[in-house]
Amino acid sequence: MTHSSIHLASCEIQSQVSLAEMTTFRVGGPAEWFIAPKDLTALQASYAWAQEQQLPITFLGAGSNLLISDQGLPGLVISTRHLRQQTLDPETHQIIVDAGKPLPRLAWQAAKQGWSGLEWAVGIPGTVGGAVVMNAGAHGGCIAECLLEAHVLQADGSIQVLTTEQLAFQYRSSILQRQPQAVIQAVFQLQSGQSAAQVKATTQTHLDHRLSTQPYDWPSCGSVFRNPLPRTAGWLIEQTGLKGYQLGGAQVAQKHANFILNAGNATATDIFNLIYYIQQKVEDNWSLLLKPEVKMLGEFPQIT
Ligand SMILES: Cc1cc2nc3c(=O)[nH]c(=O)nc-3n(C[C@H](O)[C@H](O)[C@H](O)COP(=O)(O)OP(=O)(O)OC[C@H]3O[C@@H](n4cnc5c(N)ncnc54)[C@H](O)[C@@H]3O)c2cc1C
Repeated sequence: MTHSSIHLASCEIQSQVSLAEMTTFRVGGPAEWFIAPKDLTALQASYAWAQEQQLPITFLGAGSNLLISDQGLPGLVISTRHLRQQTLDPETHQIIVDAGKPLPRLAWQAAKQGWSGLEWAVGIPGTVGGAVVMNAGAHGGCIAECLLEAHVLQADGSIQVLTTEQLAFQYRSSILQRQPQAVIQAVFQLQSGQSAAQVKATTQTHLDHRLSTQPYDWPSCGSVFRNPLPRTAGWLIEQTGLKGYQLGGAQVAQKHANFILNAGNATATDIFNLIYYIQQKVEDNWSLLLKPEVKMLGEFPQIT
């Protein structure tokens, strides 16, 4: 594999960068071109460069909801993980925060102020940008309930403010999944009225619950399938007898059946094949097709 880089005025775009380290599954091939801009100017410049070159563009946060193909991704991959500025407004209890801020850190910062609304987010290892795109949620809360607006980069380089109505949030979904645009900033509206000790205690309770019920010590993407309410995907997979089932290096977690673990040297193909196998078995037993929540990017093998 040959490596090279493109130098623009404000940043450097590198070729053939492994994406396995950029995802929590720790699998995936290289990006043809990659940048993790340090500021908005570099993001705008790299975005404009990819448009000039007519390259496909993929946005990445912390890669905690992604299965990236072993073949990697064509075009430019832009990770917003290094955009982390923020402002807390004590008058309005609003937090204006860049897309790369890790959700757990944001949840703790809000809790220390005694501002409630983000306690549920403490165990989600994604960034603000990915959480807005996914309408991430847990413990009965979600992004749609505490977000005021998101700022996105448009094709002409300008910034557009999208309200929650315009973001068209649904269960683990937003309009940005159908019309990808770079989220660069988000504004959260939090609530006062509780003491910092109370908000911190709720936040800690949520974290403790997750650590005791979910396998955080192995690479994964969290829940693989959406919950086909009123049932949960984990319950259906467990009832199908698949806990601990392994294909290549990919394993259905013992601790939580809706988690697939990279149990050592898994490939994206192993994980993809296990997702397909689970779908088949659950459909045979329950006449119900589980829909993946994890986003699959790049080429995957044809299943016959
Ligand atoms: C252990 C574990 C537990 C988890 N628990 C939960 C949970 O309880 N609830 C939950 O909802 N999720 C959970 N997740 C999944 C994941 O953390 C969330 O979906 C999270 O919001 C993804 O954020 P990210 O920054 O990692 O996004 P990525 O995985 O990098 O990307 C997700 C999507 O957002 C897009 N995207 C990312 N950043 C940007 C940006 N700046 N601009 C435009 N598009 C962007 C990507 O193109 C992709 O389509 C869990 C994951 C793990 C590993």
